[in-house]
Amino acid sequence: MPIPVDLRSDTVTRPTPAMRAAMAEAPVGDDVFGEDPTVNALQEMAAGLLGKEAALFVPSGTMANQIAIRILTDPGDEVLLDAQSHPISSESGAAAVISSVTFRPLPGHRGLLSPEQVRAAVRPENIHYAPARLCCLENTHNQGGGSVYALETVAAIRETAADLGLSIHLDGARLFNACAATGHAPSDYARHADTVSFCLSKGLGAPVGSILAGSRGLMKKALRWRKVMGGGMRQAGILAAGGIYALTHHVARLAEDHENAAVLAQGLAGLRGLEVRPEEVETNIVIFRVTRPGLGAAEFVRRLAARQVLMLPFGLDAVRAVTHLDVNRAGMETAIQAARAVLELEDG
Ligand SMILES: *Cc1c(COP(=O)(O)O)cnc(C)c1O
Repeated sequence: MPIPVDLRSDTVTRPTPAMRAAMAEAPVGDDVFGEDPTVNALQEMAAGLLGKEAALFVPSGTMANQIAIRILTDPGDEVLLDAQSHPISSESGAAAVISSVTFRPLPGHRGLLSPEQVRAAVRPENIHYAPARLCCLENTHNQGGGSVYALETVAAIRETAADLGLSIHLDGARLFNACAATGHAPSDYARHADTVSFCLSKGLGAPVGSILAGSRGLMKKALRWRKVMGGGMRQAGILAAGGIYALTHHVARLAEDHENAAVLAQGLAGLRGLEVRPEEVETNIVIFRVTRPGLGAAEFVRRLAARQVLMLPFGLDAVRAVTHLDVNRAGMETAIQAARAVLELEDG
């Protein structure tokens, strides 16, 4: 049986032998006592990369987002964010449970907000309105198809937010993909946010973990809320070592994933029965529509899987494919040929 070309998500990456070796050899201690040298080293490294005073290693990107929302709001506050953002689409309603906030979903352009939108969404102080206190940005934007914020837009939103008394949390689950696409440093984006998070467990290839960073004061609060949420881990240096390895060896290669996504999008765009916009593929995510009458996303994905190519249905007619370090250029050709076969098209 051939190994499937797994394009469902960049979370499916497995640690490489070299990463596993680094993990096996990591010096560890009790991180709840603040005594794990490898966790401390990862946190310092991440804070440095983001230009923030402090960083915290957390088990998941969801926990990073939820801690950020918790420490930047009070119960009853309103949070502005794109309607398809991760906290709305994929965090199981956690902010309602943990922070008792209300969401104000805004229609972003491919998930990206504009400063004008943020300004228009904030209502004047009035006893009828939940006070808007936080704006969450997602860069790159997952459901927006890996779309990337222009740095000037983030800077302008920051200025508007400051004017309106809003904090900014930057959900940078794929921040390093945004940086690979634009050439900006992570700190260039992070400068415009109070808190910033990124995932070690996606395209960077570590098995577990995310980073949340911000000021020393905010990270002190974050440490407490990580404990409240049950995210205090003990000899977590074994996991953190995977993160250090990822930040050292897997950042530069993200450009390869972006090239592969572009190749995939170009190839799929040539197939009748699909609607693909290769010009919108900026990073490692390709979202396209199945337009062949009567087929639909779920059936298309089922038939692809029978040919050892895995993608995710993303609604009734949309499909998502994500490139990462466990798939290569040959895999893109396999995926394109499988899609062609599923659509029952002639070769060439
Ligand atoms: C993956 C992801 C997260 C975090 O997801 P976890 O599965 O909790 O690690 C957060 N935000 C975005 C945009 C993501 O894509």
